[in-house]
Amino acid sequence: MTALAGSATPTRATVAGVEVPTDHFIGGEWVASETRFDVISPIDQSVIAQVSRAGAEEVDRAVRAADAAFPAWAALGPAGRAQHLHRLADAIEANVDRLAAVECADMAMLLESLRLRVIARGALNYRSYADLAAQYEERDWHSKGTWNRVQRMPAGPAAVITPWNAPFMLSTWKTAPALAAGCTVVLKPAEWSPLACALLGELASEAGLPAGVLNIVQGIGEEAGAALVAHPLIRRVSFTGSPDAARQIGVSAAKNLVPFTGELGGKGPLIVFDDADLDAAAKKAAGQYDDSGQVCLAGTRLLVQESVRDAFLERFHTHLAAHRLGDPRESDTTISPLIHPDHLARVEAFVERARAAGDTVVLGGERAGGLHYAPTLIEPRSNDSEIVQREVFGPVLTLQTFADEEGAIALANGTQYGLSGIVYTSSMGRADRIGRAIRAGVVWVNTFLVRDLTAPFGGVGISGIGREGGDYALDFYSDLKTLQILDGSVR
Ligand code: NAD
Repeated sequence: MTALAGSATPTRATVAGVEVPTDHFIGGEWVASETRFDVISPIDQSVIAQVSRAGAEEVDRAVRAADAAFPAWAALGPAGRAQHLHRLADAIEANVDRLAAVECADMAMLLESLRLRVIARGALNYRSYADLAAQYEERDWHSKGTWNRVQRMPAGPAAVITPWNAPFMLSTWKTAPALAAGCTVVLKPAEWSPLACALLGELASEAGLPAGVLNIVQGIGEEAGAALVAHPLIRRVSFTGSPDAARQIGVSAAKNLVPFTGELGGKGPLIVFDDADLDAAAKKAAGQYDDSGQVCLAGTRLLVQESVRDAFLERFHTHLAAHRLGDPRESDTTISPLIHPDHLARVEAFVERARAAGDTVVLGGERAGGLHYAPTLIEPRSNDSEIVQREVFGPVLTLQTFADEEGAIALANGTQYGLSGIVYTSSMGRADRIGRAIRAGVVWVNTFLVRDLTAPFGGVGISGIGREGGDYALDFYSDLKTLQILDGSVR
């Protein structure tokens, strides 16, 4: 078999009892590479699959497949595409348990939350964008002696690159608006957790999505990812991941004059005022260790009003005591292991540097068996500490205090990030003032992670460029065209 021979059936690995394709899904066929990369399970660090590793050749084939499928997919119109996307959502819903088992083995998100929420959200992403695109009404109006109309034209093949921390959910969140808007897609999932996305290719095939509409290439960021975003036939680049990779990807997109969105890292504040429900705030603060802190939106900087610091901390410790580190397949586990040994070493190095620099580790600060790192709380010596200024993406929170609203806002806005913020207060006026003052893409008051999928989603500063969500994403994947017809010139 040559490197690029296509096949109706893929090479497979058995993961958590599920047969998972380990090749690329290109033009409706399975394509194997000559080289493969190992995928390890964070649960026991065993190699669970060896996945085809794409180079420029496989990427080129995938982009060409997307380009060939584009005219017919675009011509289907929003209603025609919606029928396909609802069928894909049906297929996801019929396979929740398989997808959840594979994603749990692959990246160690809690099995129960995958089963009950996360995988279903993948189906919802396709349904909601299918319906939203189909509901779009072209705007028309009269001005300057002409009749005007704005039309969304599907942009063309889109490159979608996703991170390892919520692989299935984020891949569906990003491919859904692209497909609904009429783009065809080449998806490159993260190399640390590519397996649930491999199943997505199989489900797309089963659901009858036309060949080439959704293509999935597996591989390493600097190889497959870089080749994908630099490909001259790509018309949109949509990325979720780290600011460092975004800078490189943005340069590639710019060279081809292709629009680029980046949903990047976070260092969100969780602000607790003295008028807040302290117990609710402390419970939510302890909950920031969920998924071992591998959540871009997490409120990792606890900012607490001086007068309630001790009362808050007492409650925080009480709620943290209810958490249990363990195997993500077990229902009483609340904190899962980190994704990879390299990532554990990275988290540990952050804490060691903080210690060495004079920050105070008040809780945790050590490995906790397997790929677990103990929930850690650090009081930094200043807001300039690295542990405050850089995203750790692990179970590490910082604790700082403030005297008044002005102090809270200064700390909240005192990093280069601006993805999210969480505020606990019982005052409407304060909720409004602080909500306005925080520089971030989303601010939650007395709650967290509630999402309306039509709302804009994205970051400020190094947390992102562009917006996803609702019509914002559909516009991104479209070229907007204005038609103007001179009054009285046509009949
Ligand atoms: P990463 O940037 O290392 O990798 C993300 C993806 O980009 C992977 O698929 C990777 O293979 C690919 N990639 C890496 N370098 C590339 C390059 N030069 N060219 C093309 N592709 C390349 O990020 P990660 O470690 O997988 O994910 C963690 C990061 O993602 C964190 O910073 C986290 O905050 C962020 N994140 C953001 C959001 C959001 O919505 N804002 C959501 C989840 C994760």
